[in-house]
Amino acid sequence: MKYAETVLDLVGNTPLVKLNSVTDGIQATILAKIEYLNPGGSSKDRIAARIIDAAEREGKLAPGGTIVEPTSGNTGIGLALVAQQRGYRCVFVLPDKVGEDKRNVLLAYGAEIVVTPTSVAPESPDSYYSVSDRLVTEIPGAFKPDQYSNPNGPLSHYETTGPEIWRDTDGKVTHYVAGVGTGGTISGAGKYLKEQNPDIKVIGADPEGSVYSGGTGRPYLVEGVGEDFWPTAYDPSVVDEIIASSDAESFEITRRLAREEGLLVGGSSGLAVSAALKAAKDLPADVVVVVLLPDGGRGYLGKVFNDKWMRSYGFLPAESGATVADVVG
Ligand code: PMP
Repeated sequence: MKYAETVLDLVGNTPLVKLNSVTDGIQATILAKIEYLNPGGSSKDRIAARIIDAAEREGKLAPGGTIVEPTSGNTGIGLALVAQQRGYRCVFVLPDKVGEDKRNVLLAYGAEIVVTPTSVAPESPDSYYSVSDRLVTEIPGAFKPDQYSNPNGPLSHYETTGPEIWRDTDGKVTHYVAGVGTGGTISGAGKYLKEQNPDIKVIGADPEGSVYSGGTGRPYLVEGVGEDFWPTAYDPSVVDEIIASSDAESFEITRRLAREEGLLVGGSSGLAVSAALKAAKDLPADVVVVVLLPDGGRGYLGKVFNDKWMRSYGFLPAESGATVADVVG
């Protein structure tokens, strides 16, 4: 019989698929690493088990304990999967820009959520960082993984994501592109890849306005990437270049990935592919770019895949005349 002992054994070993349509006019091979095939639906499943293992080992989390974390959703799902297996309670703090679908997923896994305003400074008592800090002091036996500073985040990508990319490309990868949120994905896997071949270019994809590309953290709409501060999970020494893309560019590519490549992915995947396309534009045919697509698109059906939402932000032209929906009533 072939089966996994628990769902956690299904984390990682995600496949690479070649992009064939959005790459029109590009000679290099662009391979997408499909992280939505992790059991919790994102790359964040990878960091959760390693973070909780370490906390138990270090005595920071004991039976009956509660995991409290500010998370845009995906880290919460990963942590909830592990918490279920080990009997911990989970309380997640989310900024209000996180879609309702994503919130409901956390509730479905049995977690509790607290929603905070996006448009306040990180030092405000209402910010999602401050609220989570307060909850940690108020809840007995609480542990805050803090994915922004926890070294086990980047380490999990050093131990899994990086080796998988090296193995699956037979060491032929020349460029690695990933969106930067906490920085764990780019720093961990990038470090591993550079140790195998120091010539590999590591490229971070950042939403315009975020600190990594020289901004101040001005609000942008792509979720899970970009920051308004510099987390210690991000190791700038690993990253050769940061490429910024606008929300409009990221969302356009996100929609094309679904329609043309059959990849229903989130906006940060569009951001990462947008950066990969910019990086590969004038590169020759022997270049192999691996771009990591962090999560699936089902959590964003009411946003990037909703024409009305897209129009309300000017990402699609205003409606002209009747739509199919109007015609069929
Ligand atoms: N995309 C999405 C949808 C995410 O949830 C995250 C994690 N915040 C990222 C990209 C960025 O990954 P990392 O935190 O490892 O930089």
